[in-house]
Amino acid sequence: MRKNFNFSAGPAVLPEEVLQTAAAEMLDWHGSGQSVMEMSHRGKEYMAIHAKAEADLRELMDIPSNYKVLFLQGGATLQFTMVPLNLLRGKASADYINTGEWSKKAIKEAKLLGGVNVAASGADGNFTAVPAESTWKLDPAAAYVHLCMNETIGGVEFNWLPKTGDVPLVADISSCFLSRKVDVSKFGLLYGGAQKNIGPAGLTIVIVRDDLLGVTPANTAQMLDYKIQADNESMLNTPPTYAIYIAGLVFDWLKRNGGIAAIEAKNVAKARLLYDYIDQSKLYRNPVALADRSRMNVPFTLIDDKLDKPFLDGAEKAGLLQLKGHRSVGGMRASIYNAMPIEGVQALVDYMRAFEVAHG
Ligand SMILES: *Cc1c(COP(=O)(O)O)cnc(C)c1O
Repeated sequence: MRKNFNFSAGPAVLPEEVLQTAAAEMLDWHGSGQSVMEMSHRGKEYMAIHAKAEADLRELMDIPSNYKVLFLQGGATLQFTMVPLNLLRGKASADYINTGEWSKKAIKEAKLLGGVNVAASGADGNFTAVPAESTWKLDPAAAYVHLCMNETIGGVEFNWLPKTGDVPLVADISSCFLSRKVDVSKFGLLYGGAQKNIGPAGLTIVIVRDDLLGVTPANTAQMLDYKIQADNESMLNTPPTYAIYIAGLVFDWLKRNGGIAAIEAKNVAKARLLYDYIDQSKLYRNPVALADRSRMNVPFTLIDDKLDKPFLDGAEKAGLLQLKGHRSVGGMRASIYNAMPIEGVQALVDYMRAFEVAHG
C-alpha cells in the first residue's frame, strides 16, 4: 500500500490495483512470454487488448454504434487543430465558448484554420463561472460549437449541456473523462488526453459521430484525418500500445467497481467534502460560482500567500503531494480524479484544518 496521496493535475494518480496488475504482468502478459510493451501492435495478443479496451469504453460510456472511438496521440492539444481541420467541412466558422485557459488555447489554434466566433466568454468574471446560456450568441450557420467541459486550471465545470440545435456540440473532456455520466448522443465529438483520469500520457481518445467524417481539405495529412484513422482502426501507424493497455486496465477497474454511476457518486462526495471545508474556513478560499465548481480540480488560495510555502512543505511531509497551483494562477490546486480515494480527500481536509488552527 502506498502511503501518499497524489493530487497532481496530470499526469495524475492511477488506481493502485491497476498499477499492481501492470507490475505483475510486466514481464509476461497472460503467459504470452512477452511484456505488453514488446508486442507487435498487429499481433493477436495486442489486438485483443486493444479491442477489449475499446469495447469496455463503449460499454462504460454507452457509446452509440454510429460513433467511432479513436485512440490517437498528440494530446488534447493536437485535437485543438484536428477538430477544426476535420469539422469545419467548408463552413466559414465555428462557435467557441471561452471558460478559461484550455478554452483559450483551443480558440487560438482554431483561428489558424478558420473563423472563430467566441459566442460566450467568462473573461468579465475572471473565468470563475460558466456564462449563462441566455447570454450566448450562437451562430446557426456555425460548423460546430466547442466548449471545454472542465477547465482543469480554473476549476470551472459544465454541470449542464447547452442546446445547439443541429449544430454539432464538441467538448474537450480531458479532465472529466469518465468522472460523470455523459450522454454521448448529445455530442458530435468528444476528446481528451488520457493522463488526467484514464491512464498514462501519450494516449488521446476521440469519440466522433460518423456522419461528420470524411470532409477534410484535400491536402490534409493522413494522420490528422479522423476518417482515415477510423478506417484503419487507429492503426494507421503504431498506436501507443502500453498507454492503451493501462487505459484498458482502468476501464476494467471502473467496470468492476460499479461503472460511471458509482464513480460519479464517489466524486460528488469527495468534492463536497473539500468544498464544504473550504467554504466554512477563514483561511482558504475558492472563487468559483457554486453551480460551476469542478468536481475534479479544486483550486484554492490561502488568505496570505506567504503561507503558501509552509502549507506546501507541511503537506508534502504529511504525504499529500503536488498541491501547488498552476503557474498561471498560483495558490493551490487539489485534483481529485477518479483514482483518488475519499480517504485522500479526508487526509487533505484534516491537514488543512490542522494548518488553519496553527496559522489562522
Ligand atoms: C491537460 C489538458 C489539455 C492538454 O492536454 P495535452 O494532452 O497535454 O495536450 C487540454 N485540455 C484540458 C481540459 C486539459 O486538462
